[in-house]
Amino acid sequence: MADDTKTKAAANKNKRPPKLLAWVDEEGCTGCEACISFCPVDCIAVIPGPDPDNAAFAQTVRIVTEDCIGCKLCAQYCPWETIFMVKNPAAAATPKPAAAAAAQPAEAKTG
Ligand code: SF4
Ligand code: SF4
Repeated sequence: MADDTKTKAAANKNKRPPKLLAWVDEEGCTGCEACISFCPVDCIAVIPGPDPDNAAFAQTVRIVTEDCIGCKLCAQYCPWETIFMVKNPAAAATPKPAAAAAAQPAEAKTG
C-alpha cells in the first residue's frame, strides 16, 4: 500500500496541479461509498464511524487531495450532492510549463 502511494506521488510530481479539487461536506455525507466507485485515481478514503464495533455506521468519506485530479466525477454522481469542487490554490501558484508558454500566441509586435 505504501509503495502504491509512492508510485502515485512520483507519477504526479511533474504534472500541473488541477484547477479544482473535490471536497466533501461530511455533515451531508451518508457514507454510501457511491463516489468511491467512480473515482479514477482511487483517492477517496472511508472515515470510520465513532463506534469501533460497527465502524460502517455513520461513516463518511474524505478526499486525499494530493491525489485528486479534479475530474468532478464524484461530485457528479454523489446521490446526496455533498461533494463540491473547490479552487486549488496550488494551481494558481504554479507557472505554466515552458512548452505551454511557448505555444501561447505571441503578443502583437508593432514597429
Ligand atoms: S457519494 Fe456522497 S454521500 Fe455517498 S459516500 Fe460519497 S460523498 Fe458521501
Ligand atoms: S474529482 Fe475525480 S479524482 Fe478527485 S476525488 Fe473526485 S472522482 Fe476522484
